[in-house]
Amino acid sequence: MKYKRILLKLSGEALMGEKNYGIDSKRLEQYAHEIKKITDLGVEVAIVIGGGNIFRGVQAENIGIDRVQGDYMGMLATLINAMALQSALEENGMFTRLMSGIKIESVCEPFIRRRAIRHLEKGRIVIFGAGIGNPYFTTDSTASLRAIEIEAEVVLKGTRVDGVYTADPEKDKTATRYTTISFQEVYEKNLNVMDMTAFTLCQENNLPIIVFDMNKDGNLANLIRGEKVGTLIM
Ligand code: UDP
Repeated sequence: MKYKRILLKLSGEALMGEKNYGIDSKRLEQYAHEIKKITDLGVEVAIVIGGGNIFRGVQAENIGIDRVQGDYMGMLATLINAMALQSALEENGMFTRLMSGIKIESVCEPFIRRRAIRHLEKGRIVIFGAGIGNPYFTTDSTASLRAIEIEAEVVLKGTRVDGVYTADPEKDKTATRYTTISFQEVYEKNLNVMDMTAFTLCQENNLPIIVFDMNKDGNLANLIRGEKVGTLIM
């Protein structure tokens, strides 16, 4: 196994699957199966899931809600996804704990770093819900920050594309995929990997990121085994 402790970032939007809104149960089930394969390998797994399928803070002003309020709504949206994912993982025989960046005591534990690490050591999957608990951040920044805090070896960004390309592969047929690229080159070429806050946190803390296709069967487990999947940024 290449990694002992990882942080997996899943977008909320991906949870919609074939639907236009909300949570697709098939997608949830598929994610649970992919994650089960890596817990069976013995890797310690922490997960951050986004909320874009339900609400994003930047949308708030379009409907007359101020940005900060909207961001809190977005954070609560991530918690709904996290609860759905938690259920799917437990249905499939995994042990989990949900930790929230905003205190919601009757639903989940507050985020406490040492406690999160303890859960991981005991083989529980830790899901970080409600972002970092502050507006003007994203779940990508949450993923970077929490990964550093729990000393994960890598951030695995599961998306629907199989890595980072020289240009948008959906628009430019000549675009090619990087297998490895440096943080500096991503900056210089202005490639879209994560928002700048999230990206800089990883760079400054020497935390590699792998962007990979989460929808391809077995990809996640192959990555953990050390196969070249997606794009490694280091
Ligand atoms: N959010 C926030 N602080 C955080 C994490 C998330 O304010 O620490 C809000 C923000 O409004 C964001 C929304 O929650 O738009 C949903 O998260 P995100 O857009 O990152 O989800 P994804 O794009 O991964 O589905």
